[in-house]
Amino acid sequence: MQCPKCKTENPETLTFCVRCHTPLKYTCPSCKHVQLKGGTCEKCGVDFAKYGAMLVFQAKDSAQAQRAKAETRAGIWKQIVLLPITGGLSLIKYLIGRMRHQ
Ligand SMILES: [Zn+2]
Ligand SMILES: [Zn+2]
Repeated sequence: MQCPKCKTENPETLTFCVRCHTPLKYTCPSCKHVQLKGGTCEKCGVDFAKYGAMLVFQAKDSAQAQRAKAETRAGIWKQIVLLPITGGLSLIKYLIGRMRHQ
């Protein structure tokens, strides 16, 4: 197969040109159909660019959700860690108050 960009002759089995790495075949990310043209899938009609953007968007979305979850968890941990400190301070204040009364 001849590369559409640099006209190098490539074996039919290759997906990318050996010389300039131009894609010679496109594999549909949805149905795995292999075709010679990019853009949309000839079999299921999926738009390759849109599909890719959707996957990136989904990855970003799940990363944000995980970060939000981690932040809530950190907030809970902060409260747990601070609890004996705030509780301890009020206990000390209580003891000092009692000592002064005696
Ligand atoms: Zn090429
Ligand atoms: Zn497809």
